[in-house]
Amino acid sequence: MPIKILGGGISGLTAAINLKKAGFDVEVHERKDYCGKQTKDFQFLENWTSNEDVLDTLRAMHIETEFYVKPWYSQEILSPTFKRYIGTSTRPLMYLVKRGQREDSMDRALEKQARRSEIKILYNSKLQHNEADIIATGMRRPTWVVTGIMFRLEHPDKSVVLLDNNLSYGCYSYFIVNDHRGEIACGNPKGLNGYGDRLALTVKKFEKVLDTKIDDIEERFTSVVNFGFLNKAKVRGQYFVGEAAGFQDHLAGFGMVYAFKSGYYAAQSIAESIDYDRLWKEGFHKPLKVSSRNRWIYDRLSNNDFEKFVDLLRSSNSVIRYLRGGDDMQSFMRTLYGTPLSLFHIYFMGRTLLRSLNIRNLLGS
Ligand SMILES: Cc1cc2nc3c(=O)[nH]c(=O)nc-3n(C[C@H](O)[C@H](O)[C@H](O)COP(=O)(O)OP(=O)(O)OC[C@H]3O[C@@H](n4cnc5c(N)ncnc54)[C@H](O)[C@@H]3O)c2cc1C
Repeated sequence: MPIKILGGGISGLTAAINLKKAGFDVEVHERKDYCGKQTKDFQFLENWTSNEDVLDTLRAMHIETEFYVKPWYSQEILSPTFKRYIGTSTRPLMYLVKRGQREDSMDRALEKQARRSEIKILYNSKLQHNEADIIATGMRRPTWVVTGIMFRLEHPDKSVVLLDNNLSYGCYSYFIVNDHRGEIACGNPKGLNGYGDRLALTVKKFEKVLDTKIDDIEERFTSVVNFGFLNKAKVRGQYFVGEAAGFQDHLAGFGMVYAFKSGYYAAQSIAESIDYDRLWKEGFHKPLKVSSRNRWIYDRLSNNDFEKFVDLLRSSNSVIRYLRGGDDMQSFMRTLYGTPLSLFHIYFMGRTLLRSLNIRNLLGS
């Protein structure tokens, strides 16, 4: 009997590729007539939660990295009033990849690798959840809605995050330009009204701060994100991988590395009879939990906090610089994800607590 995988996204295909390599008969059941995402957006593979370069991590999981990938060394963060922090890193902070149905995208590359490995992919499949061994169907229930546009723009490569609850409540807006193709998007909680208005305002803000005009729009998109993971990802004999298990960075929404790793661990668990929950917990439970705490804090931040946050990032005070891990953005991200309670967390929790005790005047905010 073949091992049946429901879903042909990153996590499902990674599991399939590794099971096939270990000599198993595998079937991938995909509900669409193509694998993975449709939206042709840019996404980043984060490169800060591990000492190993993320591309080496993928190769170690037998993923051929023959898709478009560009090392990214800089990230701008803007406060609501456009205070600007430009974070740079000596080693790639992230890698930009293309998603969706285009020739050099990660989705297509994975699908091609699976086909080269002679994995059977059944498109337009109606296989039911209870008939599958591995559930790789992506996000379970949306908690956030991301609306965005893709456009052409003569502008140098750039990635900017704008923190402003009026545009992106509890989430963030972003602007990416790569090879004269741009993307602007903002995330907001599901159920909130006026996604379109918030996106339009976001575009205006980016136009203003970057002194540019965006009119050559090629595509509009709406996607959903979920935050919340399972404590056990093997349930009644079924393996849940990727976002189907809620494996997702709860702060930034970066789920790709978790999708690759969990797909790999599910295959390893089956091939080597090792407990799946043990494998993923050893592999990434810590950053996942820290991301969840980061989210808890972030949910409680106001626009005023975002101003202070950007001030801290820009500060040349030696104590602050030490606490944020020096001037390299890579170190800052490591501090943010590497410790359950970094001094950044303590600072913001202290502010939140003082505010809830209604003594914010003491802080001058
Ligand atoms: C706007 C946006 C921006 C993002 N940016 C980033 C980023 O910069 N960096 C990052 O790391 N992550 C990012 N993410 C998250 C990332 O896209 C996901 O975490 C990742 O793709 C999850 O992979 P997956 O394999 O779990 O699921 P998916 O990639 O969603 O794949 C699921 C597959 O299962 C199929 N499927 C679903 N239901 C069924 C069914 N019943 N039967 C058969 N097949 C089914 C789907 O068609 C799809 O092919 C972003 C997400 C969004 C929405």
